[in-house]
Amino acid sequence: MTPLLLQTEPSRALFRDLLVEPEEARSILRPQKDDRYGFGFALSPYRGCEHGCRYCYVRDYPQALPGDKAVPVGREAWGTWAVPKLNAPELLWSQRHRLHGQTVFLASATDPYQPLEREFRLTRACLEVLLKCPTTRVLVHTRSPLVLQDLELLKAFGPRVRVGLSIPTDDDTVRQVVEPRSPPIPSRWAAMERLARAGIEVGLAACPLMPVHNPQAFARRAKESGAASAWVGGLRLLRDDAFYDVLARNDWLFILDPAYAEEVASVLQQTFPRVKGRRQAAEKPVHPVHPPARHTQPCLFESM
Ligand code: SF4
Repeated sequence: MTPLLLQTEPSRALFRDLLVEPEEARSILRPQKDDRYGFGFALSPYRGCEHGCRYCYVRDYPQALPGDKAVPVGREAWGTWAVPKLNAPELLWSQRHRLHGQTVFLASATDPYQPLEREFRLTRACLEVLLKCPTTRVLVHTRSPLVLQDLELLKAFGPRVRVGLSIPTDDDTVRQVVEPRSPPIPSRWAAMERLARAGIEVGLAACPLMPVHNPQAFARRAKESGAASAWVGGLRLLRDDAFYDVLARNDWLFILDPAYAEEVASVLQQTFPRVKGRRQAAEKPVHPVHPPARHTQPCLFESM
């Protein structure tokens, strides 16, 4: 396999306001044993995520930056650092024997098309490896129209690939509050349209579901943009999560009610008969008086 040529200096650097510290990863495929997720392996070309969504539960994963002295990073620092796995394509190539007949999900706990991908092209290089695995299916999940830079490559997969666009609200002013550094909602609809027009299967991922003002129009927009499927789900609040206050300040606590997700899913189901991710929450966290220790509305792709 041709070695990956990076234009970027593989040492700690600041991109915009982001601390970037590349690493040589020890592993690249994370097995997913739970069939409900619909994939056998999760593949993340990066650790950390430049989008830094304010609700992202990955904030609480124990993480450390590489280096002589590993620097632990906490919840408050989420979105300010990222670790490109420079050897991701080579590692994946060395593991390709595990991928026969499997479905691979890009990406778990990061966005494969965060802005850094413009410079590092690790997601692209991993897709090039997967393209050479003829029995392997690929699920790409992103919030970013940057996915369009790989349009031709994705087309080459034919029916082996599906792209999920994460569009958790129909209101970009909501997006500006809950995920201020991720791409605007209209740009995601536009990306969905272009992918669909290119013959690539695309799906709507309203996950985690945020306020949707007009579910009927939301479903129509998804359909008109070429979505072939939809799924709804999963806000996972952390212990003492500051995002609870964000919801409270904006009068959005209703999204914690499992009935709200059910209602939006029911509307989407009229357009997309196989809406997924409608499992009932394990707890009944409707409008609690005090911030809860933890809320869970499970999502189809909980590892996202
Ligand atoms: S929710 Fe996804 S896109 Fe947002 S910060 Fe977390 S991993 Fe990144």
